[in-house]
Amino acid sequence: MNILANYPPTAELQEMDAAHHLHPFTHANELSDKGPRVITAANGVWLKDSEGEEIIDGMAGLWCVNIGYGRDELAEAAARQMKELPYYNTFFQTTHVPAIMLAQKLAELAPGDLNHVFFASGGSDANDTNIRLVRTYWAEKGQPDRDVIISRWNAYHGSTIGGASLGGMKGMHGQGSLPIPGIEFIDQPNWWAEGGDTTPEAFGLERAQQLEAKIKEVGPDKVAAFIAEPIQGAGGVIVPPETYWPEIQRICKAYDILLIADEVICGFGRTGNWFGSQTVGIEPDVITIAKGLSSGYIPIGGSIVSDKVAGVLRETEFNHGYTYSGHPVACAVALENLRILEEEKIIDTVRDVTAPYLREQWEGLMDHPLVGEAKIVGMMASIALTPDRATRAAFPDPGTVGFICRDRCFANNIIMRSVGDRLIISPPLTISIEEIDILITRARKSLDEAYEQVLADGLMKTG
Ligand SMILES: *Cc1c(COP(=O)(O)O)cnc(C)c1O
Repeated sequence: MNILANYPPTAELQEMDAAHHLHPFTHANELSDKGPRVITAANGVWLKDSEGEEIIDGMAGLWCVNIGYGRDELAEAAARQMKELPYYNTFFQTTHVPAIMLAQKLAELAPGDLNHVFFASGGSDANDTNIRLVRTYWAEKGQPDRDVIISRWNAYHGSTIGGASLGGMKGMHGQGSLPIPGIEFIDQPNWWAEGGDTTPEAFGLERAQQLEAKIKEVGPDKVAAFIAEPIQGAGGVIVPPETYWPEIQRICKAYDILLIADEVICGFGRTGNWFGSQTVGIEPDVITIAKGLSSGYIPIGGSIVSDKVAGVLRETEFNHGYTYSGHPVACAVALENLRILEEEKIIDTVRDVTAPYLREQWEGLMDHPLVGEAKIVGMMASIALTPDRATRAAFPDPGTVGFICRDRCFANNIIMRSVGDRLIISPPLTISIEEIDILITRARKSLDEAYEQVLADGLMKTG
């Protein structure tokens, strides 16, 4: 009997979970007191839990289930590949069909001359690859001192030692003596929280110019690369002002700094184009991919690098790789996922139909007394919660009101995440107009209930 098909009741599962399962980014004792929700099945944009509740997944899992749940074609692609060739490595002068086909397909889809793929198992390890890759690039070019990578506070680039070091999450740096040496940070282009009295346009320029100042401070001959998400995801879906990216691109070119676009969230249709770099109008030298690459059905990630970078790397032996780099089953599933994205014109539908509709509905939340700003690009969106929109004030104990909202969302069977006092969504790209209506209705209900509680708790006065 399959142990997974005949599982015990919820309370017993929760007890076993508390006894043996350590969760990521979780305070274990707090979770045990409450008991985690047990997700048992999913279809389209809908999750089902062990109590039979139907939950609308406003987060596409963890920003990854771009084509929605329940696509048998991916299961069949995995089964087929497992029977044909379940595993082989690509280390020692060998290769296999799925890795070749996926690399070729990614080269075709990626913009510009991003034509070469190094595979990893996820986004974090792909960014670890990027650290070694850009440093090796400069070393091979005879500039081994060019090893500093500039990143941004509140960026998310993963949770390995390299990924967490590149990320700008202070809570993560605080555990395990991070960041590693050679990583520098500039401020994020979060106008709502940090823009003060400047206009968004002026603020975007000012934040971008911090990169130039940092390059001068470190020394232009010491800087290898700048890494950033086209639109920050885990940091709270921070959409930079229009002036930001063109200036960043100018500075990278002027100082010959490699630009790494971490597209782990933005890639594969999330912003309404295949890649976020196209949406924000940049030409990176390296892009990090994962999540939507397989719609999360199986772990796979990687780095796509330009002809220029690959040309230099090819001159030496790159002493780096993972047992599961280009795993044949993962590649087969990713290929099937890309086929579906392309043939069903899912990204066109996002850009032309569903994202514009979601934008209208999302921006409509601006009439709610808790909401200060509503931001959206394609199918990733955020709202800022505030006690006073006019002054863009923050709540006294940041995160408290975000948590209240998230708990109401949980109770109303909608997955919407809180990041401090921002609420974010990133639904499957296949979400329909009707489902967007359900999502917005539940979001609004959750905000209303949260507002009542915020008033009752005296966290804000009626506006
Ligand atoms: C999720 C994420 C990562 C890390 O990917 P994992 O697959 O969790 O290792 C890296 N960068 C960005 C932008 C992400 O959102």
